[in-house]
Amino acid sequence: MPSIVFERQAPPRALVEQALAGSVNRPFWLDDAPARPAHEPLRGRTPAALAIVGGGFLGLWTAILAKERDPGRDVVLLEAGRIGNAASGRNGGFCEASITHGDDNAAWRWPDEVEQLETQGARNLAEFEATLARHRIDCDFERNGLLEVALEPHQDALLRDRADYLGRAAVRAELDSPTFLSGSWSRDGTALLHPGKLVDGLARVAAELGVRLHEASAVDALEEHAGGVRLRSAHGEVLAQQVVLATNAFPSLLPRLRRHTIPIYDYALMSEPLDAARMASIGWQHRQGVADLGNQFHYYRLTRDNRILFGGYDAIYHFGSRIDSALEDRAQTYAKLASHFFTTFPQLEGLRFTHRWAGVIDTSSRLCAFYAQAMGGRVAYAAGFTGLGVGATRFAGNVLLDKLDGIDSERTRLRMTRELPMPFPPEPLRYAAVQAARWSLDRADHRGGRRNLFLRGLHAMGLGFDS
Ligand SMILES: Cc1cc2nc3c(=O)[nH]c(=O)nc-3n(C[C@H](O)[C@H](O)[C@H](O)COP(=O)(O)OP(=O)(O)OC[C@H]3O[C@@H](n4cnc5c(N)ncnc54)[C@H](O)[C@@H]3O)c2cc1C
Repeated sequence: MPSIVFERQAPPRALVEQALAGSVNRPFWLDDAPARPAHEPLRGRTPAALAIVGGGFLGLWTAILAKERDPGRDVVLLEAGRIGNAASGRNGGFCEASITHGDDNAAWRWPDEVEQLETQGARNLAEFEATLARHRIDCDFERNGLLEVALEPHQDALLRDRADYLGRAAVRAELDSPTFLSGSWSRDGTALLHPGKLVDGLARVAAELGVRLHEASAVDALEEHAGGVRLRSAHGEVLAQQVVLATNAFPSLLPRLRRHTIPIYDYALMSEPLDAARMASIGWQHRQGVADLGNQFHYYRLTRDNRILFGGYDAIYHFGSRIDSALEDRAQTYAKLASHFFTTFPQLEGLRFTHRWAGVIDTSSRLCAFYAQAMGGRVAYAAGFTGLGVGATRFAGNVLLDKLDGIDSERTRLRMTRELPMPFPPEPLRYAAVQAARWSLDRADHRGGRRNLFLRGLHAMGLGFDS
């Protein structure tokens, strides 16, 4: 099988080992944000107009939007661990306008709605930015766009027709990597931000607006009760008129929806800050977010203090949809990422990584969020963001509130917010299918992008696999 650039130009092993030697297995973003106040666990019994389960971006945005719509609404948010400790505090911080995991995915699935989806996505990102300004949330928001880069000739062919095509010299003038054959810089649809600071800012604003936040308050069960819903946790319960479930990759409290997502582990490294000489050696004056065009792709970006976050490539599923913090320190994946980093930037030899971490993505078979309701419409659920939820969770919060209140809006009229994706098969078929998809995608990357029968079959059934 012909090799890929990361195999053809792999750096010496010792370089990789040295670079990782001093790193800690913790998300950089949570380490870097100021210490956060803890919120008391839920105790006793309390009524609420709206109870939100899950304290990631989706739960926090939904809480804020609910208060902005109706300041008098009594909202309580219950988080199993610490707010923002799951995917929302661990991601790459690429905040995209797309609410469909890319425009191509929308064009393929909902060709009649593409324009609407793009317009609503762009509006969501504009409102996102306006909310940050209105509430003075400083999360290092930089609207620098996305630089997609081709590393192999078949990837270059995917970019050639684009209006913003950059040939080899032009792309290397933006960011200097010997692996780049060409690129495409879309300037509008992507911002970069600091996820840890965004979590803190959203939690602060929610509290200021009067949302009651409780941590260490896992909800174990939901049941219909006296015209509302009872949510039970270890030391308390909420009697709510309405409920939003924002639990992402974790098992849904609505068992019939559990097969609609699978937890996929994604991994990232953070480097030490680059000094002026190192920055000069790579360029990157416009500070774009970068993604390559492999099926197994990398994403990378700068932080405000010029560290490089380098993530992606391996997307690991564990049998039985297992989620366990013991799965976060996967040495072979970090070594692979570090090796790919120095293939990409050989001029940064000697740079060290300070942090390595993993997080769980809620992969759905259509690659973007879906929506469902239960208990007579009083419970609303969204999940399935598949690794692109930083911007899309805000849009989803609005959809969930529209749905709970029976509002006929441009959002709830979309087929995208009304249709469910195909569920994943039960085990052991699920594990076998995911491994086969991963193997096939890796093989396609090694064979000029040519997809085998298995992948073409999945595609024909409308099924995707991505991180
Ligand atoms: C490594 C990595 C990189 C990523 N990079 C990007 C990126 O660059 N751009 C992008 O757009 N997206 C990215 N994503 C995806 C993005 O982070 C998520 O889509 C987004 O954060 C989802 O937010 P959420 O609130 O739905 O989920 P989460 O942040 O996972 O929050 C869900 C919360 O629910 C809580 N919970 C679960 N069950 C219960 C229960 N029963 N009771 C109470 N609480 C419960 C959990 O503890 C958790 O805190 C990335 C994800 C990962 C892991």
